[in-house]
Amino acid sequence: MTTDAPVVTHALPGPTDDFLTKLVGVYMDVHANPELSMQEHRTAGIAAAWLREQGYDVTEGVGGTGVVGLLRNGEGPVVLLRADMDALPIKENTDLAYASDKTGTDRFGQATSIAHSCGHDMHVAWLMGATRILAENRRMWRGTVMAVFQPGEETGQGARAMIEDGMVKRFPKPEVTLAQHVMPLAAGQIGWRIGTILSAGDSWEVTLFGRGAHGSMPQKSIDPVVMAASAVMRLQTVVSREVAMTDSAVVTVGTMSAGMNENVIPDRALLRLNVRTFKDQVRTRVLAAIKRILEAEAAASGAPKPPEFSVLSEFPLTRNDEAATEKAVAALQRHFGDDRVTEIAPATASEDFGLFGAAWDVPTVFWVIGGIDPVTYANAQKAGKLDELPANHASDFAPVIHPTLRTGVEAMLAAAGAWICSPATRAA
Ligand SMILES: [Zn+2]
Ligand SMILES: [Zn+2]
Repeated sequence: MTTDAPVVTHALPGPTDDFLTKLVGVYMDVHANPELSMQEHRTAGIAAAWLREQGYDVTEGVGGTGVVGLLRNGEGPVVLLRADMDALPIKENTDLAYASDKTGTDRFGQATSIAHSCGHDMHVAWLMGATRILAENRRMWRGTVMAVFQPGEETGQGARAMIEDGMVKRFPKPEVTLAQHVMPLAAGQIGWRIGTILSAGDSWEVTLFGRGAHGSMPQKSIDPVVMAASAVMRLQTVVSREVAMTDSAVVTVGTMSAGMNENVIPDRALLRLNVRTFKDQVRTRVLAAIKRILEAEAAASGAPKPPEFSVLSEFPLTRNDEAATEKAVAALQRHFGDDRVTEIAPATASEDFGLFGAAWDVPTVFWVIGGIDPVTYANAQKAGKLDELPANHASDFAPVIHPTLRTGVEAMLAAAGAWICSPATRAA
């Protein structure tokens, strides 16, 4: 190692006020133009053009609309920084000037409104901000930054699609994979956790079969509406009667549909359900119980055939590596101070981000950033009404831009800096 190597510090600069104003424009534009999972063509185009402008080596169309940008800057660790890009089939119910009025067709072929109700627009703006600051301050770090703009997180398709499209072979192996998500904490706060931070998520579509008849002649029917209603109620006993008090799980039936007419008994009913668990054994038990109950309800009704099951999505547990998380959290605490960087309980949300770390067999570090106006948050906390604040996937969920935007840009830089700004990684 030479002694005249440039001084590498932990302090990559945050966004200037002018640059932050530019990023606000980017954020509002992406917010107003949301795209459904695996259809993120416009957003991916914006990310790719931005990375190219900063000198990144850009690959588009990875696993559909995925974008990978590499910025090589000498010897040193490769760090993967990820933002998801997709929005949800939700009608936005905010009074924001940049609210979405977009519509599209979802994966079931249904026309729907579209909104960034999970905050992935914020993630895109964070990563765009961080990638530019990294490009403009190359003398302050060494290594390779791999910026990943991922499609289809909400449906659990995107990370898998990128990996199946050759991520591991086509791009350098990272030393760590980093991602962050906006959540209903006070804006400016950062939440972290070692080990499991997000639940596993499983979504199924179930078709229950009956026999159709005139509404006046139930004796000729096998009524799938009654079958479905009974099954939905009994499914609620899975968590209360089959999961130990010391474990936890969620079983939600989010879609229930059957029939079109009040005097026609339909011949089938459709359920879509969602399961969240924190342990593999609990997941196996809960999924088996759901299948058992649906099959038994069909049999109890005298259904002409057993129900059909199809998997809509499967999300793994998001598990944060201990050593890598400690390293990232130390950097975040150095940058933001201990009072803004706190340990949180595991959340019953799910992510496919962990698939990247698993694919390369390298650590995952995932943290969350608050997006609720701090005064609103403090008042809700005082009143014991935190659960009434809009959360991700609610039609009125939208983070406040300040200080959420700046916090996410700086958090990504601080965490990445723990690898690429470390003096030990300097070129000799
Ligand atoms: Zn979401
Ligand atoms: Zn999300």
